[in-house]
Amino acid sequence: MYDLIGVGIGPMNLGLSALAHPTPLRTLFFDESEQFSWHPGMMIKDSMMQTSFISDLVTLADPTSPFTYLNYLRSINRLHTFYFYEKLLISRQEYNAYLKWVSTQLEDLHFSTRVIDIQDTGDSYEVLVEEVATGKRTTYETRNIVLGTGSKPSIPASFDDGVIHNTQYVMEKESLLKQEKVSIVGSGQSAAEIFLDLLTSDRPETFELEWISRSTIFETLETGKLGEEIFSPSYVQYFNSLPLETRQDAVTKFARSQNGISPETLQAIYEHLYDLPQDDAKRINIRANLEVNQITREQDFTISMRHTELHDERTSKTGAVVAATGFVPSLPRFVNRLDIEFEGEQAWKVDANYRIHRTVKANHHLYATTNLELSHGPAADNLGMSVSRNQLILNDVAGKELYPVEQHATFTTFN
Ligand SMILES: Cc1cc2nc3c(=O)[nH]c(=O)nc-3n(C[C@H](O)[C@H](O)[C@H](O)COP(=O)(O)OP(=O)(O)OC[C@H]3O[C@@H](n4cnc5c(N)ncnc54)[C@H](O)[C@@H]3O)c2cc1C
Repeated sequence: MYDLIGVGIGPMNLGLSALAHPTPLRTLFFDESEQFSWHPGMMIKDSMMQTSFISDLVTLADPTSPFTYLNYLRSINRLHTFYFYEKLLISRQEYNAYLKWVSTQLEDLHFSTRVIDIQDTGDSYEVLVEEVATGKRTTYETRNIVLGTGSKPSIPASFDDGVIHNTQYVMEKESLLKQEKVSIVGSGQSAAEIFLDLLTSDRPETFELEWISRSTIFETLETGKLGEEIFSPSYVQYFNSLPLETRQDAVTKFARSQNGISPETLQAIYEHLYDLPQDDAKRINIRANLEVNQITREQDFTISMRHTELHDERTSKTGAVVAATGFVPSLPRFVNRLDIEFEGEQAWKVDANYRIHRTVKANHHLYATTNLELSHGPAADNLGMSVSRNQLILNDVAGKELYPVEQHATFTTFN
C-alpha cells in the first residue's frame, strides 16, 4: 500500500518526488516516455527560462535539499562560473539538464510505464500500469493519487493535419528550412522564439518567412515587480477562495502575465529585423489583426484569414505552417470514472490543498497538478508555484506539516 502514486513525470510531479524523498511517505511515479525529457521540440538554442533558477524543484520549500539547482551546478563543476554569470534566468537547455540530473537520482520514478486505469476500491485506489515495450500489466494500491499528466498541443480542427505544432519545431526545423516559404501562426512566446530562430538561421536566399497574429500588438510578458505577485501562494489562495463567476471573469484578465512575449525575445527580433538587408527584409512578413479560420492543403498550404478590424477575407499560400496555438490539459480517459466534481465544462473543482472534489465521500484522495486554471488562476502552469503546491499536497497526504508553508509572502494584499 503506497501513500501516493503520481501519474506523469513532468516538472510538477518530478518536484513532488524530490520533496517526498526525505519524508517517510511511500511514493511511486509513472511516465509513459522512455526517460525524462522536458519539451524536446522547444529546446531552441539560446531560449531562456521565464522563471528564476530559485524556483527550481525544491529550493522555495527546502534550500538544504540535495536536489537544488545550485547543487546540480556543483556536481558538474559550474558553480563558480554561475556565480560570475550573475543571472537569475538560465537557459531552457540547462534547466532541462538539471531536471534530468534530478530524475536519475530518485528511485520512485518509473519511465516507459503508462497508467491505463484507476479503480476506487472503497478505501484506496488500484492503479493499473502497463509497460510500454512489453504490454506487461501490474496493479499497485495507494491511498492517494496525484494527476500530473500536464498538457497536450492544441490545434484548431479546421487546420490541415500537415500543420506542425510548435512542440515539434526542433525535430522539423531542417525540413522547414528547405521550403520556399514558412508561416507561423500565433503571437505568444513560442511563436516569437520560432520566428526569431528561423530569422537568424542560415536559410536559402529566397526563403520567405511569415508571422500571422490575431492581435494588433505583440504583448510583452508582464515582468513588473508587483505584477509578478500574482504568481505567489498568497494570490493563488485568494483566487481559489473566490466564487466561480468571479474566477471565470478573472482568468481572462491575465493574458499578458501568461502569454506575453519576453522583452528580451522582442528586442532580439527587432534588432535582427533592423539589421536585415533591404532585399531580405522584403521576404519577412509580420501580419497583425488576422484571424486564421482554416488551413487546407493541396501541394502547398492555403491559409484562410479574416481581418479582425477591416473584416475582409484574405489567403496566403505557403510551403509549411507552424501553429503556436497553445495547449489544453491532457486528461486520460480513465479519470472520467472517478466521480470527479466539475465546475466548468472540463474544469475540476479543486480545493486550496489541490485536492479534487469528488461526488463520493472518501478518506483516500485525488490531487491535481494539471487542469487548474479555473481553480487556481494564472499560476496554474507556473513552475515557481509548483513548489508551494507540492508542499501543500505532501502536508495534506501526511496529515501533518512536513514542509512549513510561508505565510503572507507578498507586499500586495489581495483579499
Ligand atoms: C516551451 C515551454 C517553455 C516553458 N517555460 C516555462 C518557464 O520558463 N517557466 C514556467 O513557469 N513555465 C514554463 N512553461 C509552462 C510549464 O512549466 C510546462 O508546461 C511544464 O512542462 C508543466 O509540467 P507538468 O509536470 O504539469 O506537465 P508535463 O511537462 O506536460 O508532463 C506531463 C507528463 O505526463 C505524462 N503522462 C501523461 N499521461 C500519462 C499516463 N496516462 N501515464 C503515464 N504518463 C503520462 C507525459 O508523458 C508527460 O511526461 C513552459 C512551457 C512550454 C511549452
